[in-house]
Amino acid sequence: MTARLLDGRAVASRLWRELSDRVADLAERSGSPPRLAVIRFADQGPAAVYADSLARAARGIGIEPVIVTPPEGVTGSDLAARIGALNRDPSVAGIVVAQPLPESLAVHEVAALIAPAKDVDGATPESVGRVARGDPSAFVPATAAAVLAILRAYEIPIAGRRAVVIGRSAVVGRPVASLLTAADATVVVCHRQTRNLARETRRAEILVAAAGAPGLIQPEMVNRSAVIIDCGINVTADGLVGDVDFEAVRPIVRAITPVPGGVGPVTTMTLLEQTVRAAERLAPESPDEMARFTVPARRRQQT
Ligand code: NAD
Repeated sequence: MTARLLDGRAVASRLWRELSDRVADLAERSGSPPRLAVIRFADQGPAAVYADSLARAARGIGIEPVIVTPPEGVTGSDLAARIGALNRDPSVAGIVVAQPLPESLAVHEVAALIAPAKDVDGATPESVGRVARGDPSAFVPATAAAVLAILRAYEIPIAGRRAVVIGRSAVVGRPVASLLTAADATVVVCHRQTRNLARETRRAEILVAAAGAPGLIQPEMVNRSAVIIDCGINVTADGLVGDVDFEAVRPIVRAITPVPGGVGPVTTMTLLEQTVRAAERLAPESPDEMARFTVPARRRQQT
């Protein structure tokens, strides 16, 4: 038996259609499309590539991207002023910081400047706290949201299942563990100091790999009932690969995401979904809803 392929592109294109409709509706209500600000600290390299691809995807569903490139050596106060202006701009629904940042800047300090209502990549201390608390309305780091979106799209049961997450970074491992815990899984988090990783992974019914280590997961480390979500993105001589030895592991397990074409495309869409959600929260109510809260003119005169 070979594993069911959990096709991230199919999940992403379903989300794409749904989001396009929601954005069209928003644009009609507000008179203009919502905007997503992407702050990038270089106009070349991985952060620029990420910012450009996010901008393309945003445009594809009708969101207007705004790329902001602060000058090299930007001071903390200048950066705070620039992000503050985006926070106050009602046409900007979401703000994202493209990583990696220059060494002089700490990602959590930059993220803390973003208004929580516009934190569509779940990076502010407020979002981190709300995700840890299990608040279902919190903005979540997009890759972690994508892991759950794939499990839900394929109706993989989570409650009561034993989930093993490899990686404990702030952007992937930790929020994935929080989301799985909130969904009632029993979660084990593994990392570089974990003794006998294979003993842990073999017991996983849901295995999320987010280590950034190509070929880390081999057939002897999984069991036949495992559903594997591979978040790894590793550039090797053989091209782009995940953390799982896909060809060797696929014949053994129940279901698996490929790399590329798994978590990656869904991550872009979950970030855009959170942008649409932020825009919906900020948008003026529809005329019908407004009427419910408006005191009729005549009654207002009487009071
Ligand atoms: P990171 O380097 O910040 O964290 C890696 C984590 O994995 C650490 O907690 C580390 O202890 C653990 N780890 C590393 N090697 C290990 C090993 N051999 N055994 C056990 N644990 C090990 O990386 P990150 O930012 O969390 O990213 C993880 C991977 O996910 C990377 O490949 C990255 O490119 C990818 N990623 C993918 C997306 C996406 O959209 N698919 C988004 C962000 C990151």
